[in-house]
Amino acid sequence: MKWRNLAIGLVVGALSLTACGKEGAPGGGGAPVVSEPAATGVQVAGSPTFDKISQRGRVVIGVKDDQPGLGFKDATTGQFSGFDIEIARLVASKLGYGADKIDYKTVPSAAREDAIARGDVDYYVGTYTINDNRKKLVGFAGPYFVAGQGLLVRKDDDTITGKDTLKGKKVCSVTGSTPIQRVQQQQLTEPNNIIQFQTYSQCLDQLLNKQVDVLTTDDAILKGYAAQQPDKLKLAGEAFSSEPYGIGLNKDDAALRGKIDDVLQASFDDGTWQKIYDATLGKSGAASSHPQLQRY
Ligand code: GLU
Repeated sequence: MKWRNLAIGLVVGALSLTACGKEGAPGGGGAPVVSEPAATGVQVAGSPTFDKISQRGRVVIGVKDDQPGLGFKDATTGQFSGFDIEIARLVASKLGYGADKIDYKTVPSAAREDAIARGDVDYYVGTYTINDNRKKLVGFAGPYFVAGQGLLVRKDDDTITGKDTLKGKKVCSVTGSTPIQRVQQQQLTEPNNIIQFQTYSQCLDQLLNKQVDVLTTDDAILKGYAAQQPDKLKLAGEAFSSEPYGIGLNKDDAALRGKIDDVLQASFDDGTWQKIYDATLGKSGAASSHPQLQRY
């Protein structure tokens, strides 16, 4: 292994160990949108992950904590909120675990596959695009939402209007994400103008400080940032990819994958998904409906 790769590995490893938050009694800003009692007597035959959860008596969910509207941790209350968090809670509840039995673990994009494969998290809900490369390493239930790659720029910048206007611009995104791969593969800007961090909030700081010109990732994430500072930030151009979000889990745990797909399908059918969307992402974005499950 090259030293550079090793160094990146160590940084990613260290980051994935940070911020393991227990959530207290539901309340305040973190109150679940869907707050029915957790299911009882649940069995998931043949799921090693479910057996581990049962022995522990708690479920450990991998999330993001700096993506408002999706996966966000309130610095004051420590409460998590957002669309991904609600989906994560719904799944936990249907597995038999209420909000007081969930431990959230913040895992950045580049560390997701390792965290899942190592069993550091039972499942992961955090703007995680399903694709064939990742399917070699992890399993995916879903999709439960489809985002598209977009561009976030400073409000007064009219020079960036779409993906073909990025040449000569400093473009920031996150290591191990599909958007950064697309910028590199499609050579949307010069290699020395591609700036990578472990988290999108680091790119956001760089954008506000004028160290970079654009933050690119899923429009759902960018809308959350723009909504927080509408006088400073805006989205530019149309979305230029399809990012179907899946719930990541151990590759070999087909039983848990099937169970989570059942939970998602039921939430599509009974209106729960819509209720969650309307209370979170739907507040700042356009109306949306659920996608079709892949079930592979
Ligand atoms: N959905 C994209 C991905 O999974 C970008 C968002 C993220 O990094 O979580 O790579």
